[in-house]
Amino acid sequence: MDTEYYVTKKTSCKNCGGAGLIQAPIWMVYWEWYYTNNDKHPTFKSQQKWWAAQGFSDDAEIPEDQITCPDCDGEGQITTTVTLQDALCDLGETLDILVGHPH
Ligand SMILES: [Zn+2]
Repeated sequence: MDTEYYVTKKTSCKNCGGAGLIQAPIWMVYWEWYYTNNDKHPTFKSQQKWWAAQGFSDDAEIPEDQITCPDCDGEGQITTTVTLQDALCDLGETLDILVGHPH
């Protein structure tokens, strides 16, 4: 029987940059609106209106501006299993440096 070796690969999550949190989509839309409102920052009242138009009529209902990153589940890193061979290929250059082989 053939034997296969696997190793765990951990990489920083690209979606959240390792923070585990990302800006909630509704807030991205909000900030876009906020900064493109005729170069004037919207008044508190017009902000309330905007949120109400999105279905958030009460201040308490406005969602958090950051949500758990869906890509890494808030871990900040992605853990996958790869074959040892793939890992060594990935690390090729690093390993050459470690054992002192010139390129
Ligand atoms: Zn993430």
